[in-house]
Amino acid sequence: MKKHTEENIKVVVRCRPMNEKEIHDGNQVIECIESTQLNLKHKYGGSETYSTYSFDKVFGPETQQEDMFDDIVKRNIDHVMDGYTCSIFAYGQSGSGKTYTMFGPPRAESYFEGIAQRSVRKIFNHISGCSDAKYKISVSFCEIYKEHLYDLLQEKQNPYAQTPNYNHTPSTLSFAQTPINPHKLKLRRDKVKGIYVAGATESECTDVEDVKRCVSIGIRNRAVRATGMNQNSSRSHAVLTIWVDCVKGPRRTVSKLNLIDLAGSEKWGNSTITGVHMAQIKEMTAINQSLSVLSLCVNTLAQSGHQHVPFRDSKLTYLLKDSLGADGMSLFIMTLSPSSLHASETISTLKFAERVRQVKCIPKLQVVHDGKEALKRAVAEITELKMQLDMARRELRELKKEGGGGTTIPSDHKHHHLGEKCGSGALQPGDGSECLISRSSSSSSTDMAVKMTREALEHSRGAVTDGQNTNMNDDDSKPDHRDVVFSPTTSGDPLVHSIPSIWPVQPLTRSLQCRIHNLPLPIPRILPLFLPLPPSSHPMEVSTVETTHHPIQHA
Ligand code: ADP
Ligand code: MG
Repeated sequence: MKKHTEENIKVVVRCRPMNEKEIHDGNQVIECIESTQLNLKHKYGGSETYSTYSFDKVFGPETQQEDMFDDIVKRNIDHVMDGYTCSIFAYGQSGSGKTYTMFGPPRAESYFEGIAQRSVRKIFNHISGCSDAKYKISVSFCEIYKEHLYDLLQEKQNPYAQTPNYNHTPSTLSFAQTPINPHKLKLRRDKVKGIYVAGATESECTDVEDVKRCVSIGIRNRAVRATGMNQNSSRSHAVLTIWVDCVKGPRRTVSKLNLIDLAGSEKWGNSTITGVHMAQIKEMTAINQSLSVLSLCVNTLAQSGHQHVPFRDSKLTYLLKDSLGADGMSLFIMTLSPSSLHASETISTLKFAERVRQVKCIPKLQVVHDGKEALKRAVAEITELKMQLDMARRELRELKKEGGGGTTIPSDHKHHHLGEKCGSGALQPGDGSECLISRSSSSSSTDMAVKMTREALEHSRGAVTDGQNTNMNDDDSKPDHRDVVFSPTTSGDPLVHSIPSIWPVQPLTRSLQCRIHNLPLPIPRILPLFLPLPPSSHPMEVSTVETTHHPIQHA
């Protein structure tokens, strides 16, 4: 997979065809002269001058939805499927074609479908051709209206929502009303998701139609109102997020595609806005405010060595911080009307576009885990186990030597764990060669050491009294010796090797001396140890002659 280096945010311009009013009342001031350049015609006095603007791509009025998608959006979807988060913004004045570009016209045939539907199709095509990865696709769709966040996938969540009716005239459409039960949502930050809208519906989608259904519901719930520019002008910023959760081998990435249809960027006082009421003024102030913060963030980011970027000054910029900031990957589509009627808005859009182009970023792979950590842990564990095995072998060799002719290591003395760890302080009986002892955290270390040693001795006694490999000491005057070797295990519970050098003792009154190796607790000596023996016998006193301590390394 290609690693991304520093790059500028991509900025393209889309100039829509003139509508009837524009043809009738004005003339065309935008000329798309090349695939990356456009001219803006001015009239000063009687003469005409041109300003030339360059962008990553310039799309003229004849551009079809499919051409635009194939030319600039497709590769972003590939990046998202590779684990990068990508945001695509549509920016421009009301009526310039943002919603058309992003979602297509209402109830459009597939030919007119916008970026959203085409992206989703590409995502699912990618998934169907990918057998070595598991994908989960979910969708959330929110809007930011007057600096509040609403879930567009929850019916009746947004009290402002209206069903766009394309037959309405501007005067019959109502505008913002007092919210009755506004479920305003909050922004949160999460290790896996980055910044997201907490509480927003995340609808898991298994095919293109699922996503298209979500998009339709969201568009229906959006706050729209008629303006002089557009009968169904979106009064909010809508953010459609397509989450791509991908597990490929040991690596998991959670990336997202944000499609942002911004509210119109027209300035207050624009003569095209008709019948202005107080509520509309507030609405426009909120739109303009968040767009100004967006502009401010872009300006700050565009300056090299930028300091504080005011992402938190608006919900829009904070939500999209990951995409706008240094780690992001963004594409801005600036939509324009070619008409002289909107020349001043067109100029301000072009100026903003030029600033956005200066912002640099290094897209970051959205890895949740890559399996490297697990591999490192496994290698460390294997290394430790190898060391323990070596140590245990060495100890066994030495014990064999120390035991001389009198010590016999059972022929079936194999290192193995006896399955599950025992209850607190308990010993799991086994074949007599080793066992796991679990330590009780409530006991004092001395008690515990005594208990552990006793259990180890008892255990090995059982093993040896099975009849085999018992090496009797015929000399009653000499105490019997016993070696108990603790070795650390990765679980933290000591593994005990009770080496049956001399056991059991006959007669039972004989004393026993015990050498304890690698006791996991720092106890210099454990005295005395009484071993409960079979009913007919007396308890036996065990004294320790040697204790070595080896702290257990916890995994
Ligand atoms: P905005 O979302 O920027 O307010 P819209 O996307 O709603 O604007 O577009 C306003 C009108 O212009 C709609 O009737 C839309 O169908 C039309 N329109 C926009 N862009 C294009 C285009 N590239 N080709 C044809 N019609 C367009
Ligand atoms: Mg719109």
